[in-house]
Amino acid sequence: MSQKIAVLGSTGSIGRQSLEVIAACGMEAVALAANSSAERMEAQARQFRPRIAALADERAAADLRVRLADTDTRVLSGLEGVLEAAAFPGADTAIAALVGMAGLRPALTAVREGKRVCLANKEALVCAGPLVLEEAKDYGAKIYPVDSEHSALFQCLEANRDRGEVKRLILTCSGGPFYGKKREELEHITVEDALKHPNWSMGAKITVDSATLMNKGLEVIEAMHLYRMPVEKIAVAIHRESIIHSLVEYCDNAMLAQLGAPDMRLPIQYALTWPKRTPGPSAPLDLWNCGPLTFGAPDLTAFPCLALALEAAKTGGTAGAILNGANEAAVAQFLAGRIGFLDIPAKVERALARVKAVQEPTMQDILDADAAAREAAG
Ligand code: MG
Repeated sequence: MSQKIAVLGSTGSIGRQSLEVIAACGMEAVALAANSSAERMEAQARQFRPRIAALADERAAADLRVRLADTDTRVLSGLEGVLEAAAFPGADTAIAALVGMAGLRPALTAVREGKRVCLANKEALVCAGPLVLEEAKDYGAKIYPVDSEHSALFQCLEANRDRGEVKRLILTCSGGPFYGKKREELEHITVEDALKHPNWSMGAKITVDSATLMNKGLEVIEAMHLYRMPVEKIAVAIHRESIIHSLVEYCDNAMLAQLGAPDMRLPIQYALTWPKRTPGPSAPLDLWNCGPLTFGAPDLTAFPCLALALEAAKTGGTAGAILNGANEAAVAQFLAGRIGFLDIPAKVERALARVKAVQEPTMQDILDADAAAREAAG
């Protein structure tokens, strides 16, 4: 029986690549959900013939309903529609690829249905990691990482028998488009500059996060929760080539690394097929021609977002939600042309200073922290 999948965030970069993997591996996309891209969703629904297609935006959903009137796909709308796609009983697997804190509820909904959850939405873990993982345990859901670094760590940790033998998790970081620049050179960065990533093709929000290195900071917190490691045992190495996707260092000083071409379809596929490996659409790595591999330390002065994230990781509790909420608000303002590139870390820093972190938070504490952080960054 083929795997039946709900793709949440199907029209975004991860969602589209997920559908490529699903098509290439003979799996079925039985439910699709996204925010507002009716035209793209129509094309996906015609190709994959899902049972339901949901758009969060009501007007876009009305448009989609007209577009798909001649098909058997049921069109749903609003957050309720997205949550229904997440809970769809006909799917055994959900790919949680909605961007930002907005993806938390759909991801949790899939978790509460006890599905295999392939998690691409890092913000959900950054804001509510312990709660999401606890619910996964309670409801018998299994969470598999889609983020390339976390997939690499997951693969390197498969060699591990005793977590006490792990000395460090090492996340690699391309350095983003402004690698090597000094802080003062970053003052006049435009939206257009920030949206040019050297190795990965991604959505706008994560591309800006990659340029500020906030993405790596969020990934450190994501790894801390996923692999239950203190932040002191997680390091970041700049690796410009994006060939090694992350490493695990063991107590005997052995280091295991996972290598591959920078192609998200591989970690997406492994989250879907684990514990099996199957041939798939991702590009092979040409080891003989991929050039020398380089490593270095991140520049925390030029890229204070990473330092702020490490600080929030140490604080714990709702600090992750404060960091993330302020960053989401600041990045939206930057993309709208209302603030400069260096205002992003400034606003995040202000929110972390103004909003007090609560330890062992409830979901309400997390939502409150998110709202207060967005206001402080406004
Ligand atoms: Mg990543």
